Amino acid sequence: MARARNIKTGFFKNEDLAECSPWARLLFIGLWQLADREGRLEDRPKRIKAELFAFDSIDAEPLLAELERFGFVLRYQVKDMRLIQVVNFAKHQNPHHREPASEFPPPASMPERTANRRQRFARGARQPRAGRGPAASPSAWNALRTKVFERDGHRCVYCGSAEDLECDHVHPRARGGTDALENLATACKPCNTSKGAKTLAEWKGVRHA
Ligand SMILES: [Zn+2]
Repeated sequence: MARARNIKTGFFKNEDLAECSPWARLLFIGLWQLADREGRLEDRPKRIKAELFAFDSIDAEPLLAELERFGFVLRYQVKDMRLIQVVNFAKHQNPHHREPASEFPPPASMPERTANRRQRFARGARQPRAGRGPAASPSAWNALRTKVFERDGHRCVYCGSAEDLECDHVHPRARGGTDALENLATACKPCNTSKGAKTLAEWKGVRHA
């Protein structure tokens, strides 16, 4: 059952959200309505699509992947249940006191967004190890890459291609980006090569120039 939720003014000023597609932003607002009072809902992209985009021919899966990549939702699994936790839900929403308790188990650790990504990276850049520490070991990297590919549905998050996939550091390692899952994205070789060591914003600027 969908419920009324708040849209705070900060929604439109959030620089990380601004990097998400308008469709992902619209989906994000819709997810709040589908989520229970703890910000949890079943991770069922087709049903979510039917609830939120009944009149649009759009696929919710890549949009969910996009929101997760930017740290706005966490997708997790408990036994055979696939779930979504809206990050910082309790911070932004005040569910009605009669809204029923969540039926879903919480994620193993509750993620939190404390600052926008730009600020976090700016802080990270001042830390000695950021971007300069050893890369993940080859086996750890393979596991990480597999996870990223699965999360992104084995498609390039930038163009949707399913061929020649690589794992891209959204904020480049050379610029202080880490191997954290939220900083990794599935990218086809042409996109990854074209993006190179540019940030997403710089790359978009080049593409649209
Ligand atoms: Zn691509």
